Amino acid sequence: MIRMEAVSKTYRPGGTPALSELDLQIGRGEFVFLVGPSGAGKTTLIKLISREEMPTVGRIEFLENDTAAYREPELLQHRRRMGLVFQDYRLLKSKTISENVALALEVVGRPPREIRERVPAALARVGLTGKENSFPDELSGGEQQRAGIARAIVREPLLILADEPTGNVDRKTARGLMELFETINGDGTTVIIATHAWDLVDRLKKRVITLEKGRITGDEEQGSYGDVH
Ligand code: ADP
Repeated sequence: MIRMEAVSKTYRPGGTPALSELDLQIGRGEFVFLVGPSGAGKTTLIKLISREEMPTVGRIEFLENDTAAYREPELLQHRRRMGLVFQDYRLLKSKTISENVALALEVVGRPPREIRERVPAALARVGLTGKENSFPDELSGGEQQRAGIARAIVREPLLILADEPTGNVDRKTARGLMELFETINGDGTTVIIATHAWDLVDRLKKRVITLEKGRITGDEEQGSYGDVH
């Protein structure tokens, strides 16, 4: 699904690279943790995949297409194929949970009938049935993140990209959220999660890619967080 060849990213000319000479392949249906200390390049890697950022050098293919060659229509299609999940949820506080999730479909012009069907289905999938008409501030952190995940899956993306999705919740809640990502992955959606939650990474036995100072220093099937705590 994703192929990176000799990818480097430097934000400022002459500055230290955020990522250096990365070679990486991620297949369809994989569940991948990105781990490593703060500043290692995890967020940058996620932004390169979503094409929020472009590599300074190297090539990134998504489904065998060169992402650097995208023009506006391909870029929109690319973004529609992925669901993004953020540490701080990024829900609109003035809208209900249902409205927040519906917005993901409205912005891509889906018809009202489809929205009426898909939004409750996505909320049911993340365990938020009954909270449709609540506002974000009326929910716990874990519930808000579930709403964030519902918003990410409602367009049925090929790929979920999550940057520290459990960074603002306690461990028990984090475990529930990771199990939800596992369920979503079980249905065939590729999942990539940048995280510091080493205990959950160790427990889940998924592919673990370790970044340190912008380089891949580990890539293990059924890996653990290892020494990078
Ligand atoms: P991580 O997610 O692992 O904490 P990041 O990808 O956020 O790492 O950051 C990697 C490096 O790139 C850090 O040195 C960071 O300061 C730098 N960096 C990230 N974003 C920017 C930006 N927009 N402008 C300049 N430097 C940046």
